[in-house]
Amino acid sequence: MAADIIDGRSISQQIKNEVRVEVERFSKNATVPKLATVLVGNNPASRVYVKNKVKACREVGIESEHIALPEDTEEAELLSLIERLNSDSMVTGILVQLPLPEQISEEKVIRAISPQKDVDGFHPINLGLMLSGDLERAMLPCTPAGIIELLLRSGVTPEGKHAVVIGRSNIVGKPVASLLMQKYAGGNATVTVAHSRTRNLEKITSQADILIAAIGRPQFVTAEMVKKGAVVIDVGINRVPLSEEEGKGSREKSRLVGDVAFEEVKEIASMITPVPGGVGPMTIAMLMKNTLKAARIQTGI
Ligand code: NAP
Repeated sequence: MAADIIDGRSISQQIKNEVRVEVERFSKNATVPKLATVLVGNNPASRVYVKNKVKACREVGIESEHIALPEDTEEAELLSLIERLNSDSMVTGILVQLPLPEQISEEKVIRAISPQKDVDGFHPINLGLMLSGDLERAMLPCTPAGIIELLLRSGVTPEGKHAVVIGRSNIVGKPVASLLMQKYAGGNATVTVAHSRTRNLEKITSQADILIAAIGRPQFVTAEMVKKGAVVIDVGINRVPLSEEEGKGSREKSRLVGDVAFEEVKEIASMITPVPGGVGPMTIAMLMKNTLKAARIQTGI
């Protein structure tokens, strides 16, 4: 029997609806949360991401201020902008869209953002709070937190299960592994993290009750790598050229696929996320949740 498809669009909409109600309530007692988005350069994908984030702010009643800087912006200029946003009490969240042009150190920029306004949850203070299990105070990275939310809202409790994460990046693999192992409702799993140096990957992935693919390689996870009945979460976003057949009558030259060979894996898994429409929309919904949380932390309300 084919797997149930986990509908990230509808779950993310639920979350945004909840955030909208909470933002309205919060704004009666305090200032309206405000997210400053900063985009350096003209990366087309980044422009789309930022546009979608600003749109989500409008949907949930969060104010936003967008700052676009040219590709050749100096690191010092960006750092002084962040300093200004850090000390502006009307700005409750700061998001600097990554990647940044090569003359700017992403690490320095991430560290410059006030941890309380760090809605991406990339600051080492927030990562440290997460790792030490202080999930209430930590701003959690959006994609990993979105994956946990997606599992829980689909009725999948990680507790006691074997979760295998393929990928150990700072923005997805490591934090999602950390969240899955923490002692709380979304955690208590037994976690294995695999990466490009892992031996016998297939043997490990086929033991997973929950398999999370965050690799960045199109359709890397095939049916043989998946245990029957596993829950498969596909984080990958890869653009691949359309075949001649697929391209017939279409103006598009490429399409998005995940890190999982969806068509074959859905015949083995019990639940699976599609790409697009799975993890992607959750990231933005969790960003909205974080922006409200940041405002709450700053105001104590
Ligand atoms: P990344 O920084 O490139 O990390 C990829 C990870 O995959 C690395 O840990 C790498 O191992 C591992 N890997 C690469 N080849 C492998 C192989 N053959 N076998 C096992 N492991 C392998 O990527 P990322 O930032 O985590 O992103 C992963 C994917 O998720 C990308 O497609 C990205 O676009 C997507 N993404 C989606 C969202 C969303 O909102 N849906 C958010 C963020 C990222 P090493 O560490 O050994 O190199």
